[in-house]
Amino acid sequence: MTENMYDVIVAGAGMAGLLAAATASKGGAKVLLLDRNDRTEVGKKTNWGWVCGDAVASSHLQFITSRTGLDFSHPELNNKVDGVYALSPDLKSKFLFEGEGYILNRPKFETKLLEFALKSGVEYLPNFEVERPLIENNFVVGVAGKDAGKEHKEFKAKVVIDALGIATTIRRKLPENPYVERDIDIDDIESTGRFLYEFELDHEDLNFYDPKNAIIHLNQEIAPGGYGWVFPKGDNKVNIGIGVQRRSLGIRNEKLKKNDNLHSLMDEYVRTNPVVKNIKPFTEGHNGSKGYWSVAVRRQMESLVFNGYLGAGDSMAMPNPISAGGIGPAMVSGILAGENAAYAVSKGDVGIDSLWKYNLEFNNLYGKKTAALEVFRIYLQSLNNDVINYGMKNFLSPSEAESLSYGNVPELGLASKFKMILKGASNLSAFTNLLHVVKKMKQLNELYSRYPQSPKEFMAWKGIVSREMADVKEKFKPNPI
Ligand SMILES: Cc1cc2nc3c(=O)[nH]c(=O)nc-3n(C[C@H](O)[C@H](O)[C@H](O)COP(=O)(O)OP(=O)(O)OC[C@H]3O[C@@H](n4cnc5c(N)ncnc54)[C@H](O)[C@@H]3O)c2cc1C
Repeated sequence: MTENMYDVIVAGAGMAGLLAAATASKGGAKVLLLDRNDRTEVGKKTNWGWVCGDAVASSHLQFITSRTGLDFSHPELNNKVDGVYALSPDLKSKFLFEGEGYILNRPKFETKLLEFALKSGVEYLPNFEVERPLIENNFVVGVAGKDAGKEHKEFKAKVVIDALGIATTIRRKLPENPYVERDIDIDDIESTGRFLYEFELDHEDLNFYDPKNAIIHLNQEIAPGGYGWVFPKGDNKVNIGIGVQRRSLGIRNEKLKKNDNLHSLMDEYVRTNPVVKNIKPFTEGHNGSKGYWSVAVRRQMESLVFNGYLGAGDSMAMPNPISAGGIGPAMVSGILAGENAAYAVSKGDVGIDSLWKYNLEFNNLYGKKTAALEVFRIYLQSLNNDVINYGMKNFLSPSEAESLSYGNVPELGLASKFKMILKGASNLSAFTNLLHVVKKMKQLNELYSRYPQSPKEFMAWKGIVSREMADVKEKFKPNPI
């Protein structure tokens, strides 16, 4: 049975979907927001709960405030941090990764966004499982799924915004098309898990718990192909977890003759933290204190639009390829997708040409740096702990590393290091490779600065991006140990 015609259907009421729905509605569209969760659990990602590190840069929150007028404070913001620091495996080098930010109370944050969406006039249908897009004449024209009573239902709209997160049942079921790919390479996905713990501080050691900063441990034995994190939530509470690349984990296990999985690595990471002691799980409205989920760490899908279709947030692989931070891009893209959907509907043209403006706006505000960051991530995954230790000490100054983490490529400092004496063949090759990586990052930044102005130029451009990325993956294979 096909129900009601809407201007815009937003599938998924997470960070991206809630803001997309609110913005489209404020833009004058008749909006239906669908999500499988009950209203009391808005934003819950999986049965495991609101699984996330919950850290977000202040700049993203400021952007949301500037575009929506929404202000954030306690209780949806748990704790302010001065920055996010990445530590080398030997803990001797520390690089600032991202500036000031907040650790969120995710359930409260998303409840606030839902209230905003409802006030903006959005029609909200919780407990609805989205199973697939409805397709007519190569256009997405709605979605099909099951309601709370497990009854099959179809809803039609002029435009569908896919905000279903990484396991999206819409993008993965789009008609075969040259714009939005349906699959993501498994090597571009991190398996992650996090705990929420109250603890007693055994002694002070800012390398393992820092009440004022979020810390990240780069360590290919502890978190192969990813990293561990300790994010302070205030009042001796912590969000602690790890992310791993499955392929790196397999290589690491084989080399070390171990049989670890994400669960055992997470337990070990918490057990070996020397300062976080006498832990007690807390939930703060979450479903349990332990949870697992996946994050894509590649550039966002090259096109975020198709006929009658826009994607936002994790459904489009938007998290930062190095930090896996996806809250910011999910919220930014949600707002832009909502605005563009409403605009296209008002013009009476929801074809890919008309929706293309969203690609350009997202690329300009955020997306243009992610391909370069993906290159750096692939390089990082090819280094063992010794080389990471050496490289963080000798290859880059903290300010060069910080600018790399934002996707900007440093110029002078690196060239001058040609003169330095590098100890060990593996370090020399890692440094030569870094120079190659920096060159690739520049090329990709340049390519993304020439993001195609319309679908017509897209295929040629995408061909170059795909070749560049394939080259990088061919040259740098995961090699954690
Ligand atoms: C362990 C972990 C740690 C992380 N740490 C950080 C961090 O510290 N900082 C940061 O910025 N990012 C972090 N991220 C990434 C961040 O959580 C995501 O990028 C962000 O939640 C994306 O928001 P979204 O709205 O796109 O998707 P989601 O939050 O996944 O929301 C998707 C919504 O769609 C609903 N849905 C899904 N499928 C269906 C369906 N078939 N039918 C109906 N509804 C459906 C879900 O219930 C959910 O409400 C982390 C991720 C993980 C897994």
